[in-house]
Amino acid sequence: MKPLSQEWLAELNLSPLWRQRHAAAAPTSEVAPASFPATEIAQLDWPQLKQTVATCTACALHAQRTQAVFGVGDEQADWLFVGEAPGAEEDQQGEPFVGQAGKLLDNMLASIELKRGEKVYIANVVKCRPPGNRNPEAAEALACAPYLDRQIELIKPKLIVALGKVAAVRLLGKDASIASLRGKVLDYRGTPLIITYHPAYLLRSLTDKACAWEDLCFARQTFRDLMNQASATI
Ligand code: URA
Ligand code: SF4
Repeated sequence: MKPLSQEWLAELNLSPLWRQRHAAAAPTSEVAPASFPATEIAQLDWPQLKQTVATCTACALHAQRTQAVFGVGDEQADWLFVGEAPGAEEDQQGEPFVGQAGKLLDNMLASIELKRGEKVYIANVVKCRPPGNRNPEAAEALACAPYLDRQIELIKPKLIVALGKVAAVRLLGKDASIASLRGKVLDYRGTPLIITYHPAYLLRSLTDKACAWEDLCFARQTFRDLMNQASATI
């Protein structure tokens, strides 16, 4: 009997993921879909996850992107900052928060002695730019959710900071105002989660900039407390 071809294995969903990725790149109509069930995404390692996101077509946002923006930083970071979606500059450069809001985020990080890439990872709720910088739709955030979930599982951050409402709603799984969620240590699947305003919003709101500063100090203190608790239990 003839061995099953890669195309068939891919069609039947039986070939290993890295084989499917190659199959998906082949210019034929029988290739495997470029999206995977969440259960499969939850098994991917970093290279597989990056490759899967780069070729993902699971929601309509893939159509107009220049490239998917995976995330940036220390893959074993203590701190994870989660934004909303890439904007025009991020879409061009392939890195989160490199435009105006990104400059503010870098300053916010510096204010609590943190630096992009050093014990810090930065990711977005959706990996592809929504046209015209509109907010991602719920269905898009849902389609992209397994990627962020897997990133968090691989990073194992000690603390997550959600920047703005889209990230807060996504990580909390419920809708509430930023004002009502600030100043508390919340929870994402067992990891402490703190909510603050989105830097793009802060560029327009001076009063809430002061609140964001409070939130960052709260996050820094929470992180210190977590570290102290951890060393006390060793
Ligand atoms: N706003 C975001 O939420 N993420 C980015 O990467 C850039 C701007
Ligand atoms: Fe895939 Fe996420 Fe991009 Fe949608 S936004 S195409 S789910 S990577």
